[in-house]
Amino acid sequence: MEEKLLAIKAAALAELGLAADPEAVKELRVKYLGKKSPMTEILRGMGKLSPEERPKIGQIVNLIKAELTAAMNAKGEELEEKALAAKLAEEKVDITLPGRAPVRGHLHPLTLTMREIKKIFMRMGFDVMEGPEIENDYYNFEALNLPKDHPARDMQDTFYITEEYLLRTQTSPIQARTMQAREPNTPIRMIAPGTVYRCDYDATHSPMFHQVEGLVIDKNISLADLKGTLELFLKEMFGSSVKVRLRPSFFPFTEPSAEVDISCVICGGKGCRVCKNSGWLEILGSGMVHPNVLTMSGYDPSQMTGFAFGMGVERIAMLKYGIDDLRLFFENDLRFLKQFN
Ligand SMILES: [Zn+2]
Repeated sequence: MEEKLLAIKAAALAELGLAADPEAVKELRVKYLGKKSPMTEILRGMGKLSPEERPKIGQIVNLIKAELTAAMNAKGEELEEKALAAKLAEEKVDITLPGRAPVRGHLHPLTLTMREIKKIFMRMGFDVMEGPEIENDYYNFEALNLPKDHPARDMQDTFYITEEYLLRTQTSPIQARTMQAREPNTPIRMIAPGTVYRCDYDATHSPMFHQVEGLVIDKNISLADLKGTLELFLKEMFGSSVKVRLRPSFFPFTEPSAEVDISCVICGGKGCRVCKNSGWLEILGSGMVHPNVLTMSGYDPSQMTGFAFGMGVERIAMLKYGIDDLRLFFENDLRFLKQFN
């Protein structure tokens, strides 16, 4: 009996020595230690043994079982490690390959320009106000001294949603909204940046474009304040060497009104194609707020005066970056947009 057990042990260890992978070890475990193994059979047949032999054989069986279990565990672990090492070697990542850098986006030139305009006015203490892009006829035209039959309305043909509602042609409605939201005669210093719409499309016009309008109302505001404020803004925007001039003009919502020009940023005032050889570039419209506009929004023109101005963000960006076609801003051509990185 004892020899039989030792022979089983020797056979098991010999087979274990040949096992090549963890699966083979598992099979040997079943074969030599499982329910149908020769050792289990010997244990089952122990009843036939003499009472003296029984504990002796039992002890040997337990010892061999423990020995085989330990040997199989060790072999199993060794083979698992080998398999893992082989797998890792196979799937090794080559860290010497150059990396793939993620493509980083950047701001659109109009956003950059809009932010710079806002920053300059905020430094001068202006509030930044916003308003709806779908506006009613009253705020877009009437509150700005443009009654229904006013001829200047023709210059601002827009997209109507209904008879009453339209896509705003300017950000000026925000001025009337701000005045009406405040106590009458409260001083105001604000800019209104935003998207506006008109039925226009060519190299210098887009049906959708951007404006920044400004409004200052207080006691004793004069044309000198208008000129000083805009001069400071334009020198911050285009450099301290630009010259600024005011030319008389007409807007229904201001009186007197003035176009504001800067000396040509391309040729420095000598005359070129961009400035049509005049040396000057038209940059924004401005004027003293018309008394009717003040009255309509609850302000008393005998006590309060103010000035207003409006500029196209596209025009400012075109001059700042030397862009000659406004449509480039909206074509989403990456070759164009990447230049503003
Ligand atoms: Zn020029």
